Amino acid sequence: MGSDPVVCIIGAGCSGFTTAKRLRDAGIRYDCFEESDDVGGNWYFDNPNGRSACYESLHIDTSTTRLQFEDFPAEGNWPDFPHHTLIHEYFRDYVEHFGLRETITFNTRVDNARRTPDGRWEVRLSSGESRQYDALVVANGHHWDPRTPQYPGEFDGATLHSHSYRSPFSPVDMRGKRVVVVGMGNSALDIAAELSHRSIAEHVWVSARRGVWVLPKYRGGKPADKLMMPPWMPKKLALRLARKAIKSNVGAMQDYGLPEPDHEPLSAHPSVSIDFLAKAGSGDLTCVPAIERLEGPEVVCADGTKVEADVIVFATGYKMSFPFFDDRELQPDTEHRFPLFKRIFKPGVDNLYFAGLAQASPTIVNLAEQQSKLIAAHVAGEYRLPGAAEMQRIMAQDERKHLGQYYNTPRHTIQLDFARYVRDLRREIVVGRKRATR
Ligand SMILES: Cc1cc2nc3c(=O)[nH]c(=O)nc-3n(C[C@H](O)[C@H](O)[C@H](O)COP(=O)(O)OP(=O)(O)OC[C@H]3O[C@@H](n4cnc5c(N)ncnc54)[C@H](O)[C@@H]3O)c2cc1C
Repeated sequence: MGSDPVVCIIGAGCSGFTTAKRLRDAGIRYDCFEESDDVGGNWYFDNPNGRSACYESLHIDTSTTRLQFEDFPAEGNWPDFPHHTLIHEYFRDYVEHFGLRETITFNTRVDNARRTPDGRWEVRLSSGESRQYDALVVANGHHWDPRTPQYPGEFDGATLHSHSYRSPFSPVDMRGKRVVVVGMGNSALDIAAELSHRSIAEHVWVSARRGVWVLPKYRGGKPADKLMMPPWMPKKLALRLARKAIKSNVGAMQDYGLPEPDHEPLSAHPSVSIDFLAKAGSGDLTCVPAIERLEGPEVVCADGTKVEADVIVFATGYKMSFPFFDDRELQPDTEHRFPLFKRIFKPGVDNLYFAGLAQASPTIVNLAEQQSKLIAAHVAGEYRLPGAAEMQRIMAQDERKHLGQYYNTPRHTIQLDFARYVRDLRREIVVGRKRATR
């Protein structure tokens, strides 16, 4: 990279605009392109770009203290788990406070990004214009491209993915309907609990391949994510203590009429909901096994159970997608794997950075704020990457550290233990600065 590099940032969700702020603080020139007419990405309800999965009742699962930006704390009177409108307002305030709005080009999509023979990036915009950059930051989010399972047979009723669910009445009016919600992740639990109110659906069935541990948002009156084990504690011990605390706090899932999980707590990305447990225990929703096939008005499950239903809501997650790359090397593989060094760098392409591309527990909101420290140091030439072999060794080690506790599934390929990751990043920046000065 030259001495005065110019960077392109794709996206002005929280990952894009916090990276923009850091680059600007470091005196690095950039252009940030945002497809929508405002910042906020997923947290901009009814985002005209069609990429927000916010539903009217959505409250963030991450507590305020864990999600806030370190250089822009949330106001003291915030609730523990803010509504999505407050999160969007907070993002807009951040952007205004740091004077970033005028540095973002709105209503402009990056349609294509390709490496030129001299290793720079050529970016084609939806305006038809092409520009060249020394480096590219991809902050396009990874909760917008729905993953919808296919089953044999036909279903007579309505189907939708949780991505398009806005309320029990939109886009499908589910009052008095028999609804099957597929999945037991966070959106599935929220939507199933909401629909299962007696004044809304006639009945709700939740279909899943396996039982999950449903974790309450609070433990002993405190947001549970505030009580996570500290990163200095050996991982094995931290996991043992956390699992014990969860079991004594929530008890067995069968006590609520839910299927017994085939794994330990925290071996899957946490599914968090107070409401869901109460609704299950109240008999307002029923769990059934995975769907095997569809037969007209009926949903047939793996154990032979037949559910006559009017609507299926697929809360079955998302794919990582980078539609602006033609290069196959810059796409995840068929197992949804996309290994990156420190979840930022694609080995061999060292002027390309991914921001916010992780399923970090307890939050993704301020993940890129942390990553941008390393990104800015690298663009400025103050941080140097390790050699190829060392990079592979560290990637394998990190993968064991962050993915080791989870069962193997495409859902768990980009998990991160946030606190441990942030500590590692700090160390990596120090080590990389030494490499740069050597
Ligand atoms: C229902 C739901 C609940 C969630 N709850 C939590 C939670 O409790 N805690 C948590 O930490 N996270 C949660 N998340 C995860 C959420 O993705 C992150 O909080 C956050 O939105 C990630 O920000 P981002 O900037 O990486 O991506 P996004 O918010 O998706 O923003 C990406 C931006 O990039 C823009 N963009 C994309 N492609 C282009 C292009 N080609 N050209 C120009 N612009 C482009 C988009 O328009 C968008 O504005 C939740 C997600 C969902 C779907």
